[in-house]
Amino acid sequence: MGKTNFSLFPFSSIRKGQREFMEDVKDAVEYGKILVAHAPTGIGKTVAALVPSLQYAVETEKTVFFLTSKRSQHKIAVDTLKLIKKHAKLDFVAVDVTSKQSMCPRATSIYQEYYSLFNEFCKSEQKNKRCRYFLKHDEEALQRIKDEIMHVEDLCSWCTSSGVCPYKAALDVAENADVFVCDYNYLFSAGITEKVLEKIEKGLEDLIVIADEAHNLPDRIRNNLSSELRMSTVTGAARGLRHTNREMHGNLMELERIFTKLAMEASKNNKEEINVAKNFLLEEMEKVLRRRIEAMSYEDFIDSLKSIAEDFETTGGIKAKATDGGKYKSEIVQRNVLSVADFLDGWRTREKCLRIFSLSQKDNPSLYFKLLDPSVISEPIFAKAHSTIMMSGTLCPTEMYADVLGAAPDRIKGKKIALREYKSPFPEENRVIVVTKELTTKYTKRSEEMYRKVAGKIAEVAKYVRGGMAVFFPSYALLKNIAAYLPEGVKRRAIVERREMKKEEKNRLYEMLRDDNEGILLAVQGGSLSEGMDYESNTLKAIIVVGLPLSPPTLEVKTIEGYYAGKYGAEKGRLYGYHYPAITKVLQAAGRGIRSEHDRCIIILMDYRFAQFPYKKCLPSDFNMTFTDRAEEFCINFFQR
Ligand code: SF4
Repeated sequence: MGKTNFSLFPFSSIRKGQREFMEDVKDAVEYGKILVAHAPTGIGKTVAALVPSLQYAVETEKTVFFLTSKRSQHKIAVDTLKLIKKHAKLDFVAVDVTSKQSMCPRATSIYQEYYSLFNEFCKSEQKNKRCRYFLKHDEEALQRIKDEIMHVEDLCSWCTSSGVCPYKAALDVAENADVFVCDYNYLFSAGITEKVLEKIEKGLEDLIVIADEAHNLPDRIRNNLSSELRMSTVTGAARGLRHTNREMHGNLMELERIFTKLAMEASKNNKEEINVAKNFLLEEMEKVLRRRIEAMSYEDFIDSLKSIAEDFETTGGIKAKATDGGKYKSEIVQRNVLSVADFLDGWRTREKCLRIFSLSQKDNPSLYFKLLDPSVISEPIFAKAHSTIMMSGTLCPTEMYADVLGAAPDRIKGKKIALREYKSPFPEENRVIVVTKELTTKYTKRSEEMYRKVAGKIAEVAKYVRGGMAVFFPSYALLKNIAAYLPEGVKRRAIVERREMKKEEKNRLYEMLRDDNEGILLAVQGGSLSEGMDYESNTLKAIIVVGLPLSPPTLEVKTIEGYYAGKYGAEKGRLYGYHYPAITKVLQAAGRGIRSEHDRCIIILMDYRFAQFPYKKCLPSDFNMTFTDRAEEFCINFFQR
């Protein structure tokens, strides 16, 4: 069979592995398949997924939904589309959007945080014809969005300065768009998908779905249907309404009493966490609400809390004095009231959730729920969409992601499913991987002696590294314990991530590392410095992954593991619920070093368990590891080459 001529491909040559991936995408879109693709960094997966999908979409009037988990991932998709347009001189329409509230020129910070509040505000402004942006229709603006491919930031600032609602304009154009770049939520969040599809007059069967960085998809779907309520939030809401709404104050105090009841039950059973039945909270609340002077249902209670929170926007709620302090307090009460309302609202969901009461913070217990099985949301979408491409550099093993997201061959009738793993196109010798003997962060082996040994090995390796280096730990606690034993010379070079740091502070750590040829970053696995951060220009010459970030055996972890064991058997239950989430974090951390074909990096996995069952089996097939107690010698050789 001859090679396909991908005429939209905007670069002079197609990389190793990239062609294979593009052929698979072409096959998936032409035959309506689901492709689950582990495509390592360097394959150029964005362009490889877009070229065949766009070609097919233009020919058949389908729409490509390019979904991302983070706003930062939009840029590469939009830049690639611009390149394709310029190269192929193809007349197609692509629209880049983020959430409605983040595009709205009128959204205040509280609207960014609480979608339900923003949505009511926006609906009422439209209905009462009070939003001037919504009322203005500007053909010229729409034409420009159609003609130019704009980054969402440019689209928003340009629409705002033209006096047009950016979200409305983007969706108006999206009716005729060939590509729609947006967040996962547009397709995997209940309530949003139907509205958007109705607005752009498309059905799921018209969509070619590309889920980028799809290793994030299971957690993202789970987190979309999850919420936590702390007792301090309930107390804060109750106190805030004490003088202005005695009835609701009383109702919230009853909710606080339910928390106390659960805390007593947990303590009585000597447990830090207990399962809570969905109906327990519903029935307890209904019982107390019916007995109040102004008897109300659970639903009325939520509605009343929401309208109190809305009143804060117009009246200042608790008659806050016109001082900054008064306004600040008023905002805190509003946030607390909204958090309680949103939590109680979400608690009613019909989807199967884990529901847990936790005393892990003794003086501030919490109640939380989380969707158990993300496939209940994703499977119906994959079944109906024309075709789906799930891709990531760490979608490994593809079989697990297919199972967890409901795209396994036996799950969706009438759709073929292809699971593919592509090889890295970068020279193998540019990435050396070693696993150290004797060292571990295994819970039963943790001791001051082990911390000292690990710190000693980090210091030995650091002596020979030429350039930036990062050490990723399983937790902040282990980072602190091990860093305490690092010699002064290493401590002086250390750039340390702290739990309480904001995103901007973490970005600054990266800049410090980039500008300092001798810097050693100490950070955690699963954090923003080990996932998502793009270390440009081969900033990291060496990466040490200390230990395995296995979750402690919390009730949540055990429940998820038990759920998958019931569905797929005990072995897969353990792998899916416990081992693989940790391995994904390790692969993300280890993958920060090599971003282009000229980058070189030595990766040291500092835990002997990586060379043992079952962890070794969980790592990708191209992870060629050497098991050694002389990691520093590999380092010397690597930097001499
Ligand atoms: S219509 Fe547009 S500009 Fe007006 S409030 Fe809603 S999102 Fe904001």
